[in-house]
Amino acid sequence: MALDYLSLLNPSQGAAVMQTEGPCMIIAGAGSGKTRVLTYRIANLLEKGVDSFNILALTFTNKAAREMRARIEKVVGPEVKNLWMGTFHSIFARILRSEADKMGYPRSFTIYDTQDSKTLVGQILKELELDDKLYKPGMVLGRISAAKNKLISVQQYLNDPAIRADDEAALRPKIGVIYQQYQQRCFKAGAMDFDDLLYQTNVLFKDHPDVLNKYQNIFKYVMVDEYQDTNYSQYLITRKLSAKDRNICVVGDDAQSIYAFRGADIQNILNFEKDYPELQVFKLEQNYRSTKNIVRAANSVIKNNQAQLRKDVFSDNEEGTLIEVLKAASDNEEGKLVAQSIYEDKMNQHLSYDDFAILYRTNAQSRAMEESLRKLNIKYKIVGGLSFYQRKEIKDLVAYLRLTVNPNDEQALRRVINYPKRGIGDTTIAKLVEAAEQSNHSLWEVVSNADQFLPARVSNPVVGFGEKIKEYTAKAAIHDAYEAAKQIAKESGMIEELYADKSIEGLSRYENIQELLNGIKAFVEDPEREEKSLGAFLQDIALVTDADTKDAQAEGEQVTLMTIHSAKGLEFRNVYIVGMEENLFPSQMMITSRADLEEERRLFYVAITRAEKKLTLSYATSRYQWGNLRSCEKSRFLDEIDPQFVDFKFAATPAGPGAGESPFGHVFERRSNLVPPAPRKTVATKYVTPSDFKPSDTSSLQTGQRVEHPKFGFGTVAKLEKQDGTTKATIKFEEVGEKTLLLSFAKLRVH
Ligand code: ATP
Ligand code: MG
Repeated sequence: MALDYLSLLNPSQGAAVMQTEGPCMIIAGAGSGKTRVLTYRIANLLEKGVDSFNILALTFTNKAAREMRARIEKVVGPEVKNLWMGTFHSIFARILRSEADKMGYPRSFTIYDTQDSKTLVGQILKELELDDKLYKPGMVLGRISAAKNKLISVQQYLNDPAIRADDEAALRPKIGVIYQQYQQRCFKAGAMDFDDLLYQTNVLFKDHPDVLNKYQNIFKYVMVDEYQDTNYSQYLITRKLSAKDRNICVVGDDAQSIYAFRGADIQNILNFEKDYPELQVFKLEQNYRSTKNIVRAANSVIKNNQAQLRKDVFSDNEEGTLIEVLKAASDNEEGKLVAQSIYEDKMNQHLSYDDFAILYRTNAQSRAMEESLRKLNIKYKIVGGLSFYQRKEIKDLVAYLRLTVNPNDEQALRRVINYPKRGIGDTTIAKLVEAAEQSNHSLWEVVSNADQFLPARVSNPVVGFGEKIKEYTAKAAIHDAYEAAKQIAKESGMIEELYADKSIEGLSRYENIQELLNGIKAFVEDPEREEKSLGAFLQDIALVTDADTKDAQAEGEQVTLMTIHSAKGLEFRNVYIVGMEENLFPSQMMITSRADLEEERRLFYVAITRAEKKLTLSYATSRYQWGNLRSCEKSRFLDEIDPQFVDFKFAATPAGPGAGESPFGHVFERRSNLVPPAPRKTVATKYVTPSDFKPSDTSSLQTGQRVEHPKFGFGTVAKLEKQDGTTKATIKFEEVGEKTLLLSFAKLRVH
């Protein structure tokens, strides 16, 4: 049955769907139907008789691919199974497998994850006897990854002084050699890392024109969603694949480019125009996802970016409710307010928990949210990551804490006996386990008497480990849970190990540990708790950690929690963006230049534009950081939203602290490099909203009248203009100067 595209699409969308031949590009704002166009374009191609095996559609996440597949299936049925649809990594891993023998790899090559790659780099560093202060695995891997994404081969790296200039300047001249060894070792092990999946695809197409030709004939139509976030390597692959038929269609939004830190390059959009002079460009300006308020608020934020293509995105949907801002005294209270708000909205508006999403900047923020949702028995799922207590580093530290309280806890013992590495190998552990079984003792008893079971050379580190645990147990007996946990985190060597890893993932793990300690601090400071021991804390979280495993399979309605990065392309009825604080969002760790700040702002734009009906932003005025309660300043991004779209429920906030020093002696001093923030548009924080503020009827407002605004304070009406059925009032405020407000939005009290 043919689809009625006219009723499903607006004229520009329809034109893009019908334009099946030749290169085409749609660069348009959020929620304007770009993904919808790709979906119907594929349906249209199939209806026109194009074989489903000849269509390649590249999405950014597997979830996006699944959703698109489901939508197309409704139109074309089981044919959908033959489409080549998925992420760059999944599609090209498939192709590399079938062509592996041409490159000397086994068909069943292993895909190394980041941890595997890091371990390998670590081994190479050791073998080369490089200074481990200068060469850290995460950092080295980052350099190798960046090289591969720019298609710089080992030979180029070794031979081109310009490529090595940065390394030489940083006194790390050996990166090229490590890169060489790393590639050789991966090859010998029959393994590719994530970057290889793209890099080797490029090598394959370059060295084997016959293979390229074969895939050019298969992929007669190529489509790419979220094109703004492709890197150079991905750009080249798609260009090569579509060089013959030139049927390539890319869609994206430069305002949503949020992966520059992973090598994504906005130049790819500009290159695209150069590569295909016959390019057809389509503009989509209508947002179908969100209310007018949300769309306008998003526009007012992105306007602050200098390096942004100007777009006029509008919505024909209802005006909608104002964006709500929640102010909390602490991160735990923020969680509570958000959970309560979700519960109330669900009940009052008869919604499903599936309608709600909580978005955050960093993974560590999920802890407070998860705990509050659990207290209200609200089911949730974490997309693109693990629940807080399921994360490796949290499990590791919790295992130390469990072992401290109960050294007989065998699972905990096995987990950390050689983490961080202390020279206790698998064979030794196997021997200890065997000795425990034979002598009918617990593993712990064998460990603490290891010298009786093993020769001194092997038993020394085991005995040392046993002594450490005993020390921790003694500490836990005299200190509260926080003090004990902090010392254990440090003395176990975990903190040093995590701090040494300067990759994005490493930073996230370090933040998670910090967040766990914050949670423990809040636990011991809670006046309602009588027992503040480590044992009491573990008892308290036992339910959380246990319930998590069950939740993984839980069915039914669930609130979605995820980082903003993983929310790209998705939409939810009600969205909460939490942690709207300076240093958290924009992230202190990420901004060292204006370009970084603009990327953070695009991230905020992505977050806002996920919401269909209601958007809530929240922040806390204090958080625990390294065991101290620190005050937080609300995010500059809150002030960038045009106030007429916001319901500010807050008053003045105290200025926050700068960078902090951790109790582990690690200084996080990045703000010194910061570009000063763009001038603030409003000075809204001076005026404290009276709690009894009730807006008056302003239908008969006159110039010269004195009015009060919940955010701007007192002022006098200078001008009233009627336009298109609405009235604009220009008001001279005593504290913030002149403002023009739409009367239907502005809450004013007439005096
Ligand atoms: P993003 O930039 O966030 O990826 P997008 O441009 O890909 O957004 P879509 O997700 O395709 O936008 O569309 C946003 C929402 O609007 C979807 O729910 C989609 O079904 C709906 N939509 C888009 N175009 C139309 C239309 N012409 N009629 C009705 N609904 C539409
Ligand atoms: Mg999309």
